[in-house]
Amino acid sequence: MEHIERDVVIIGAGPSGLTAARELKKAGHSVAVLEARDRVGGRTHTDVVEGAVLEVGGQWVSPDQTALIDLLDELGLDTFSRYREGDSVYIGPDGKPVRYTGEMFPVGEHTRQEMERLTALLDRLVGEAGPEAPWNHPDARALDTVSFHHWLRQQSDDEEACNNIGLFIAGGMLTKPAHAFSALQAVLMAATAGSFSNLVDEDFILDKRVVGGMQSVSERMAADLGEDVILSSPVRTLRWNGPDGGDGGDGVIVVSDTTTVRARYAIVAVPPNLYSRISYVPPLPRRQHQMHQHQSLGLVIKVHAVYATPFWREDGLSGTGFSAESIVQEIYDNSNHEDPRGTLVGFVSDEKADAMFELPAHERRETILASIAEFLGPQALEPEVYYESDWASEEWTRGAYAASYDLGGLHRYGRDQRTPVGPIFWSCSDIAAEGYQHVDGAIRMGKRTAAALHEALAEGLQSAAPGKGN
Ligand SMILES: Cc1cc2nc3c(=O)[nH]c(=O)nc-3n(C[C@H](O)[C@H](O)[C@H](O)COP(=O)(O)OP(=O)(O)OC[C@H]3O[C@@H](n4cnc5c(N)ncnc54)[C@H](O)[C@@H]3O)c2cc1C
Repeated sequence: MEHIERDVVIIGAGPSGLTAARELKKAGHSVAVLEARDRVGGRTHTDVVEGAVLEVGGQWVSPDQTALIDLLDELGLDTFSRYREGDSVYIGPDGKPVRYTGEMFPVGEHTRQEMERLTALLDRLVGEAGPEAPWNHPDARALDTVSFHHWLRQQSDDEEACNNIGLFIAGGMLTKPAHAFSALQAVLMAATAGSFSNLVDEDFILDKRVVGGMQSVSERMAADLGEDVILSSPVRTLRWNGPDGGDGGDGVIVVSDTTTVRARYAIVAVPPNLYSRISYVPPLPRRQHQMHQHQSLGLVIKVHAVYATPFWREDGLSGTGFSAESIVQEIYDNSNHEDPRGTLVGFVSDEKADAMFELPAHERRETILASIAEFLGPQALEPEVYYESDWASEEWTRGAYAASYDLGGLHRYGRDQRTPVGPIFWSCSDIAAEGYQHVDGAIRMGKRTAAALHEALAEGLQSAAPGKGN
């Protein structure tokens, strides 16, 4: 067991923890980053599977994600645009694929009007609530105690419109059924993209990708940090000086499988569902014990299918498809930069993912490819490479894409989610305001936490609020 001393110990080498470490080091403080896995990047992972480069985790960049865009510039990483020429395909309740262009699905007139009305309603709520402190909205409690599913049906009697609008947030973002989270949580999700209209515009939200893969953001930061990033070191215990005293001394003692770090502060840069994998001595206060039990990760299977060519383009199709009814709810052309092969990515979310995981692997593959073929034709049935990202099986993540509150949790606990506990600070995309659930939010939280700690270290204080809005 190695014993080291630093100003700040960071638990987790995902984009948030690495950004915090980078910023603190730039400001002249010493850091150590302890990472459970044998790689950095957390929920971003660019892997090679049977010769195909796949973005197993987070990958897209949208134009409002300026913290990520600035970091890409700083690290010298380029981006490229997602292929989007040609028609998209929509499969409605009748199960028939329909080609369309533009943003609006090819639905009946009444459904179209209802989708536009619901979008305007959500845009108004998003404008009022904002991403920073939606729990301060005058109707926060009312919006947080009704499920998004039921709230939509209180607004509209058009089932297809409710399902389509629900899909963007439920299957598309929080990866939980729309009955499992509140309307306020849906408003927060949309607010972090600026508006609901932005969130549903795939040309906005899925605009660019990183040449070389999103994981290279973390890899470059880790390379700059050098030996201060310690891999294969899951943190088991965090000793701190609790309200009644403790054996963390003035700061913290953080014990991992390989290294013990004594530091003045700790940043826990892991998703909230993993906070309790660490034993805190003394235990965290009651409020944290309760709050952390109300934040959970969603479930989605990200499916990758690689073909000899992007055959759909010859047919005038963009590779984009949506269906609230199908097993695969959305598909996109995900071909790599300067790669002649065609890659499709599809998503199977929440209860549909449960059903798929009930099947043996070969049956699951057949069912999922058959669903993709409903959008793009039978050529989709025979990929050269097929791969399912299964983050829920990963011990150090346990779901995808990120955490959200259960019904009523956001207005009840949200204001405390970023509040430090003595020398312990929290930093991850799951508690971000702008960029919530995204790499951009992870970076914003890393910078925000580093700034608060820089101030605290400069003043010699043990605790500081990590920013406004709590
Ligand atoms: C399938 C998928 C698709 C996604 N798509 C996108 C996308 O297109 N665009 C986008 O912006 N975002 C996307 N995301 C979300 C994005 O990847 C995450 O928001 C981001 O990676 C969060 O960064 P983080 O640093 O907060 O947490 P993480 O990336 O989860 O990093 C946390 C780190 O902590 C480590 N850790 C956990 N417990 C311990 C412990 N006890 N001791 C030591 N280390 C520990 C973990 O191993 C991990 O490395 C996607 C995510 C997934 C899974």
